[in-house]
Amino acid sequence: MKSVIFIAPPAAGKGTQSSRLEDLGYIHISTGDMLREEISSGSKLGMEIKEIIDKGNLVSDELVYELIKNKLDNITKPFILDGYPRTLTQAESLDNLLQELNLNNYEVIYLDLPFEEALKRALGRLTCSCGASYNIYYKNLAPKKEGICDKCGEELTKRCDDNEESFKVRFETFINNTKPIKEYYENKNKLHIIDALASNEEITDKIKEILK
Ligand SMILES: [Zn+2]
Repeated sequence: MKSVIFIAPPAAGKGTQSSRLEDLGYIHISTGDMLREEISSGSKLGMEIKEIIDKGNLVSDELVYELIKNKLDNITKPFILDGYPRTLTQAESLDNLLQELNLNNYEVIYLDLPFEEALKRALGRLTCSCGASYNIYYKNLAPKKEGICDKCGEELTKRCDDNEESFKVRFETFINNTKPIKEYYENKNKLHIIDALASNEEITDKIKEILK
């Protein structure tokens, strides 16, 4: 199986698809998780990262690159790269790194979701501590009783901190930032766009077809 660089707007189902690939033996490399892991490890680097984030600053490109390089250096299985690259510069240095490490056998998958649908998925989502999840905007996914879990009767909580306006900003920022990255991979014939309105199963099948 080929490795994959996953790019998707908020609420497109990247998490679900990533964990399905993990079940197939993929190693999930998420920049967010890596930063959190480094911090909780208490290493010197972790302490530096914590200080940067606590001050409200962004962790530098160089630092994130180092973390990814360390992770990829000894990798023996196909991987999912999630949350990276976020800029064209990052895409270019990643490409050099993957060539260097002989890990060039990868494809880029973009999950495409219209804004309106992403908004409903994100803002309508309710979850329960028992693991059940609901969505008030879809008849078949709404809880039978408003705000209460069908399975255990507990009160449901909203998953997303966004309101419509802040979600819109987050979504549009993502689309704008991703545009040059998509073009970059398109020129390399690596880009595959999948319609995220399809069912999870259909999406997984398409991904498998691309990566086999
Ligand atoms: Zn429940």
